[in-house]
Amino acid sequence: MNTRRVFLQKITASAFALPFMPDFNFENVNLSSDAPYDGPVLRVAIMGLGSYGSRVAEAMLTSTMAKLTGVISGTPSKIKEWQTKYNIPEKNCYNYENFDDIKNNKDIDAVYVITPNALHHDQVIRVAKAGKHVICEKPMAINATEGQEMVDACKKANVKLLVGYRMHFEPKTLEIVRMRKAGELGKILFFQGLCGFKIGDPTQWRLNKALAGGGAMMDIGIYAINGSRYMIGEEPIWVTAEETKTDPIKFKEGVDETIMFQLGFPSGAVASCLSTYNMNNLDRFFLNGEKGFAEMQPSTGYGPIKARTNIGELTHPHVTHQTVQMDEMAAIILQGKQPMVPVDGEEGVRDLKIIDAIFAAAKTGKKVELK
Ligand code: NDP
Repeated sequence: MNTRRVFLQKITASAFALPFMPDFNFENVNLSSDAPYDGPVLRVAIMGLGSYGSRVAEAMLTSTMAKLTGVISGTPSKIKEWQTKYNIPEKNCYNYENFDDIKNNKDIDAVYVITPNALHHDQVIRVAKAGKHVICEKPMAINATEGQEMVDACKKANVKLLVGYRMHFEPKTLEIVRMRKAGELGKILFFQGLCGFKIGDPTQWRLNKALAGGGAMMDIGIYAINGSRYMIGEEPIWVTAEETKTDPIKFKEGVDETIMFQLGFPSGAVASCLSTYNMNNLDRFFLNGEKGFAEMQPSTGYGPIKARTNIGELTHPHVTHQTVQMDEMAAIILQGKQPMVPVDGEEGVRDLKIIDAIFAAAKTGKKVELK
């Protein structure tokens, strides 16, 4: 049940939630209250009722500030199923042809786009034009130019654009970011990000360049890129990359199977990363500084995340990532809350610029400078 006490337990699971909720008046809150939560709620329609959309919808059942009120889908049978499961009225159900009409729907504040990568660009721009806030899954687009167009369209429409970076709200991740920011790890020298899994069905959209925009890098390698940035706390200035392919039938032209890449940062810190669709048990971050280290394994899966530093294991309780993400994103959209690690469209574009550079570096074998 969504009571004030449950809400506060969730948002304080991260040791850093409180300083980032400037509009929340904790003095007036009775921590032991079981009165129903009666604050602002973000009413969300999910677009794309697939595997991850289903996970987000399920997790949102226990969110306090976000509620599923609509769906957009190309599959009528799924719409019926979701209507029953989540009590969604007919007037809040759309398909890919008519969802522009959402502009007249007062029950929906935001649309969460959870479709194949290459569709995000046009869908996000259409949602923005309909005057609704947008949350878009990663990767937000298939290249930085498209990502920037989405940012511009949302700015023009005066709506917020957030990217579904759930790790930006994960308590152990945030603790390591806090330690690094506080200087507890000393000057940062090195980050390692290993991200991958062995992909199955060769006919799925993730292995179709037209829908995925690439291969493992777009899907899973992006976690190492994004992680290197929030763990080191700087933007890379150069990349080098090497690609290997063991199965050119499954991984066609433009669909990367395995890429090793290196990133250089202004302070002199370096990152060494691996992105692959051909190895399991690969979900590890390692951050090394002059005074200490942090190690996470698993580092970006659905959890529980495991992490330890030079002073011991992190024991923050596991939270369902998508439940907290949706509460935090509702606070960002409705209350202007500033998250510790940004999740806005510009953040998504930064990752895409690095992906563009990695693809260029892998193709030419040359170091690519980033502006
Ligand atoms: P799925 O294939 O399971 O679902 C995608 C859904 O998109 C489909 O079920 C379908 O829903 C809709 N869709 C619309 N057009 C197409 C099309 N041409 N081909 C296939 N599906 C289409 O994918 P996922 O849910 O796993 O991934 C969706 C997005 O979410 C991706 O961008 C992915 O990177 C991201 N993701 C993020 C994760 C995270 O942890 N942040 C984890 C997993 C995925 P419908 O039938 O309702 O139209």
